[in-house]
Parts: sequence; structure tokens; C-alpha cells
Amino acid sequence: MSDTTKQTATPNKVDAVVVGAGFAGLYMLHLLRDKLNLNVATMEAADAVGGVWYWNRYPGARCDIASHHYSYSFSKELQQEWQWPEKFPAQPDILLYLEHVADRFDLKRDIQFNTRVETAVFDEEDQRWIVTTEKGETYSAKYFIPATGVLSDVNIPPIKGQDSFKGEILVTGRWPKDGVDFTGKRVGIIGTGATAVQAIPVIAEEAAHLTVFQRTPYFAVPLQNEVMTEAEDQKIKASYDQLRKDARDSFAGVTLCEPRPSALADSPEERKAHYESCYKEGSFNLWLGSYEDLLFDQEANETAAEFIREKIRERVTDREIAEMLCPREGVSYGTKRQPCETGYFEAYNRDNVTLVDIHKSPIEEITPEGLRTTDEIYELDYLIYATGFDAFTGSLFKMNVTGRNGLTLKEHWSDGPRTYLGLSMTGFPNLFNITGPQSPSAFYNFPLGIETHCDWIADCISYMNENGLATIDADPAAEEAWLAHTVELADASLFPQASSWYMGANIPGKPRVFMVYLGGGKAYQEAIDREAADKYPSYTFVRGDTEQMRVGTWALSS
Ligand SMILES: Cc1cc2nc3c(=O)[nH]c(=O)nc-3n(C[C@H](O)[C@H](O)[C@H](O)COP(=O)(O)OP(=O)(O)OC[C@H]3O[C@@H](n4cnc5c(N)ncnc54)[C@H](O)[C@@H]3O)c2cc1C
Repeated sequence: MSDTTKQTATPNKVDAVVVGAGFAGLYMLHLLRDKLNLNVATMEAADAVGGVWYWNRYPGARCDIASHHYSYSFSKELQQEWQWPEKFPAQPDILLYLEHVADRFDLKRDIQFNTRVETAVFDEEDQRWIVTTEKGETYSAKYFIPATGVLSDVNIPPIKGQDSFKGEILVTGRWPKDGVDFTGKRVGIIGTGATAVQAIPVIAEEAAHLTVFQRTPYFAVPLQNEVMTEAEDQKIKASYDQLRKDARDSFAGVTLCEPRPSALADSPEERKAHYESCYKEGSFNLWLGSYEDLLFDQEANETAAEFIREKIRERVTDREIAEMLCPREGVSYGTKRQPCETGYFEAYNRDNVTLVDIHKSPIEEITPEGLRTTDEIYELDYLIYATGFDAFTGSLFKMNVTGRNGLTLKEHWSDGPRTYLGLSMTGFPNLFNITGPQSPSAFYNFPLGIETHCDWIADCISYMNENGLATIDADPAAEEAWLAHTVELADASLFPQASSWYMGANIPGKPRVFMVYLGGGKAYQEAIDREAADKYPSYTFVRGDTEQMRVGTWALSS
């Protein structure tokens, strides 16, 4: 149990505290303030909106979901007026879009930038959350809504000697606002996951030399990005209603190829032709749109894995390097997040790119001049950490969240996350998660998943305020049952076998549990809709004095 937090004089009393100003925080603020007429304080650690797209400005940063899917659907006017320049949006365009959304809905006036939330403690006496910022300000809020992001807490593995480096260390998830000029420079990059796969071909074109330190090769597949033509833009805008409906009815919140039932049921020729067409479609089509048994049956999976290995061998001219880039036989395809690439494998055909296998020759230390592995010394001007995130739990734990009876979230989740519907945790009343663990989260198009959660939360808050309810808390049995359900779904798949960030495996000491609900977007939507339609039977409400609350009158379901 933790000590209760430091508290400053008189807390600012608000209806809700929202933390974060990415896709989730912006929409949550809009709903609570403009639809429910609540008094909302929103805190953001950065000096501007954007979340992931504010922090991840590394060269080549881009979304792997098509722009017309990876955007808000709540405003038809917004959908019609915004013009995406490319089929898959680049980081600067998504940031512009979120800036536009913040201005269009006048959100910035209620966001405190440069403000990091340090603690959030549930006060049993007042039945309210006491939220403290690093500046020492304190807020008392009925509702506490972290919109702190699944991939926002960067993972910087400690490497011996890193403070001695005379060059500059860069972190992809905290990229300098003014960019970095690599012209004529010797650059090293640690990591070859989804971020590095985007950055490597772009940096290779600029740097004098790029050394890639690879521990694990990935099954990366072409994104197939294109310029968005005027005709394509008009076509999308004319069919947005259907497009969104199809996306919401799909597994991953984005329309992909229709998967065939079994990779093993097709002949090798049929299978190859089908894989080829999915590969040409790009994005997540091969991963989530090729065969239904791909992520459940090892033998089926191996057919796709070998198809991608063959593509790598075709694209990389040096046979030894090609083999270094191929995940070994027996390593499943897609049980780690599938990187989408543009010219990634061809980057290794360049004279100024070196691939180093740090699984075979581990990094020993960073020196003032560069990096030393067990085999060699690499002199560098820049060293880039593309080493991912403490996903799902990192940013929540960093807020030192403490619920009823002094129980911290870290303690509650000591064996891995446990939630009801991915939205609530027993003993943490009036706290709502957005796209957190045990929701479709990282297996769903985020902006739509965020809207689904924010709509549900706003609806629930509206219900509580209309009915004079002080607190809502998930029943322990409901939390237990949801945990068991999510584990059962994951265990039927190949995912738990992989050492992935979905499993917490990239962070030493983190419990190894699969953190995503795998039942698909539609089944999930039905589950949360049922809970709301039945008036929240798996929750306990406490009635209370709501005098100080302005009562919201707007219900999404009405
Ligand atoms: C490089 C990259 C590529 C991605 N590509 C895709 C993709 O192709 N498709 C897809 O669907 N998703 C993708 N994602 C996932 C992405 O996380 C979501 O799409 C989405 O942007 C999440 O929005 P969010 O508002 O929930 O969180 P975020 O965008 O992470 O925003 C959270 C905000 O909370 C702030 N914050 C955190 N802790 C605190 C605190 N204690 N106090 C104050 N502020 C705090 C952070 O500064 C941040 O601004 C990608 C993520 C990354 C990193």
C-alpha cells in the first residue's frame, strides 16, 4: 500500500480530469465539455496537442492504417473538409490534422500544456480523485480519465557508458522538434521494430554511413503508400458512412482483404497467389486479411512466414545479409506487431549501410567515440534508440494511481493488467481507461477504438449524473471473468509464444501476459453496448450528493 500523495492547499474543483491531448484526450474533452457541459481540466506533458504524433517526429514516421480510416468519425463536417495528401498519412500531416481538430473545436483553452500529472489518489471521504501535477497544483475531480496512450512511455534501455558518448543520443519517441541533419554523419540505430523499419531507409539516404544494430529480425511487409488523388479523395468522401460502418463491423476497425478460412486448405499455388495479392495491397492485409488460421495454427503461420522470407531474399542482394534479415524458421509471423515498410530491405543494398547482429555479438558498451560490441568498435556521431515503449501500463504507472484502501494500480496489476471490459478496474471508482489493456486496443484502428471508449464513458457519466450517482466501481467477479475471457482468447492463438511488447516481454521484470482483447471490434462493441443498455449490471453504484455537479443531459444512446 502506498502513502497518500502530497497535497497542496485548496484543490481546484472540477467535474473531470483528463490526462493527455492525443486523439483520446482531445475527443474526451470535447464530449465532456461540449456535449455534457462539464467542467473539465485537461493536462498534457507536451507543449502542444498530438500525443504520439507530437513526440514521434523521427524521419519516415508514418501511420500504417489508411488516412481515411485513421481519423475521427464523430464529425461529418470534419471528415468532409479535411484533405489527406497521401493514402497513408505521414507524421507531420497527422499532427496538422490534430492541431486543426483542436482549433476547430476550440479545445486548447481547456488544456494545460507542459503539465505532467504525478499522482492521482482516490479520496474515500469525498469520493473524488485528487490529482497532482509536477508543478504542485492539485485538482479534485469526480471523474479521472487517463488518456495517456498505450505507446507513450518510451523505453530507453540502460546501456553501460551511455553518458560518456561525445556524439548525440536520440530517441525516436522523443525526437527533436527542429529535426536532425544527418548529412555527412555516421549514424547508429539500435532496434529494428516498426519504428526503425520506417526510419532506416530515410536516414540511409541522408547519412554518410548508417549502422543498424539488430537483435531480432522482423517480418516486415510493404506499406504500399501512394499520393491521394483528387478523384480518390472524392470517392472516399462520398462513401464515408458505409466505409465507417464496414470498419466498425470488422475485426480490426479497418477494412482489409477478406480472409480465406485456412492457409492449409488451399493448394500451394492458390496460397501463393493469395499471399501475393495481400502483399500488393500492403498495410495489414497479409497479417490480418489473408487467412483466418494464420495466427492460430503454427503450420498455417509458417506458410506466410516462408512467403515473406522469400520476398526478403528476392529484395536483398547480399545472401548473407538477406539471411540475417530473415526471422528464423519456427519464429511465428505476426505474433509481434507487423512493421510496414517502404524500401526497408533495399536500404541494405546500399554501400553506406551496415547490419550488425547484436544477438550474436552483443553490445558491450557505449564509448565516447561510439559503440562497442563483443566483436567490433563502431565510431558514431549519432546513436538512435528505436527501442520501443513500456506499452499499455508504463504511462499509467508513472501517474502513481491509488484507488480505494490505498491500493495502487501497480499493486492491483502486479500479475499483469486486470480490468472489466478494458474500461474499469475494481477498487478504482470513476476512473475510466481509454484503449487500455484488455480492450481491442493495439489490435484495432486507434481513432475508432478511442471514439468507442470515449462515447461509452460519456454515456456512463451522463447516466450517473442524471441519476445522482456518486461513484461507479466494477464488481470483482466481473473483472475476474473478463480477465479469464481475455486470457482464454489469447491462449487459443499463437500470440503468447512471442516475446513481444503485447506480452510485456520488452521490459525487464514486467509480467508476461497478453494485454489485448482478441475477440475483435464487433464482439467487443456488443459487449460494452450490452453493459450500458442493461444499465451497468456488472458495476456497483453509490448514490451521493451531486449538488456541486452540473448534471449532463445528453446521452449518446438516446
Ligand atoms: C510510431 C507510432 C506509430 C503508430 N502507428 C499506428 C498505426 O499505424 N495505427 C494505429 O491505429 N495506431 C498507431 N499507433 C498507436 C497510437 O498510439 C495511437 O494510434 C494513438 O495515437 C493513441 O492516441 P492516444 O491519445 O490514446 O495516446 P497518445 O497519442 O500516446 O497521447 C497520450 C498523451 O498523454 C500525455 N501524457 C502521458 N502521461 C502523462 C502525464 N502523466 N501527464 C500529462 N500528460 C501525459 C503524453 O504526453 C501524450 O501526449 C502508433 C504509435 C506510434 C508510437
